[in-house]
Amino acid sequence: MRWENLAEQPVRPGSDAALFGADAVVTRTVDTPEFRGITFHEIRARSIVNRVPGASRMPFTWTVNPYRGCSHACVYCFARKTHSYLDLDTGLGFDSQIVVKTNAPDLLRRELGGPRWRGGHIAMGTNVDCYQRAEGRYRLMPGIIEALRDHANPFSILTKGTLILRDLDLLTEAAAVTDVGISVSVGFTDRELWRTVEPGTPAPERRLDVIRALAERGIDCGVLMAPVIPYLGDHPDQLRATVRAIAEAGATSVTPLVLHLRPGAREWYFQWLTAHHPHLVPHYERLYASGAYAPKSYQRRITGQVHELAREYGIGPARSGAARRIRPEREAGPAAAEPEQLTLL
Ligand code: SF4
Repeated sequence: MRWENLAEQPVRPGSDAALFGADAVVTRTVDTPEFRGITFHEIRARSIVNRVPGASRMPFTWTVNPYRGCSHACVYCFARKTHSYLDLDTGLGFDSQIVVKTNAPDLLRRELGGPRWRGGHIAMGTNVDCYQRAEGRYRLMPGIIEALRDHANPFSILTKGTLILRDLDLLTEAAAVTDVGISVSVGFTDRELWRTVEPGTPAPERRLDVIRALAERGIDCGVLMAPVIPYLGDHPDQLRATVRAIAEAGATSVTPLVLHLRPGAREWYFQWLTAHHPHLVPHYERLYASGAYAPKSYQRRITGQVHELAREYGIGPARSGAARRIRPEREAGPAAAEPEQLTLL
């Protein structure tokens, strides 16, 4: 689900500062029966609005990430690499060692009100999922949305988490004063594939329920159909079933993205592939022979098929981010600056 090249900045390995980030103070480490197998590293971050590195091709400049690591545990997650910046393991460690910036809401409110903040769209869910299971315990997102609402600061959220529905009222309030974009990530609807490759996530049909619930509240929701997984989720029948389900749920757009395997994710994915689909290993070695991406011709074919299906089912690709915003029922206020566009591809 994640954006590529959006790692928070690496820190020098080999020290406490490396483990928890040079700009953070560790408060405590928590293991709790309710989250068996997961360790939370609670920290007090020193800054929260993160600037996307200038060289990045991402269509936004600012991000907020209250967590690092993600218990949704998607095997292919490109953000795995970012755990190595903290001297943490990029495999199981990424799934189970979750860094929690407990002061994120207060810090964000302070930074949004500070003299250095000039406004601008803030993207969330860009590195790891802000509605992963930890959010049920720490409840950081309500305070974050409140701060953005109170400063009428445009923002977007990309998630696989159904917990976002808990914050529907707040999201609606925020949409009354600024531009808010919601996207849900659903790469496929095959339950067998979901169980093994996205083991910690809500099932695809639960994510489709999120889209339905948002639509019922008049909130536009786009779908990032990601990743489309070669040989396992790319059969025309699978693409059709997925796009049909997305359209039936009421999504306003669908944007396909083929699996990419950057360092950190690549090793973990091949380990999984070897265990679950060993006959596919040589095929993947050929498909990803030249690096992190499948050949352009393959990507074009998948994108073309999905767009064709989307037309057939009456939805389209995201257009300049417009379809991904909550429909505002308001006059544009002075603080509602035009957000940077999230064009996804
Ligand atoms: S839900 Fe979590 S594990 Fe899955 S792709 Fe997104 S950030 Fe990675």
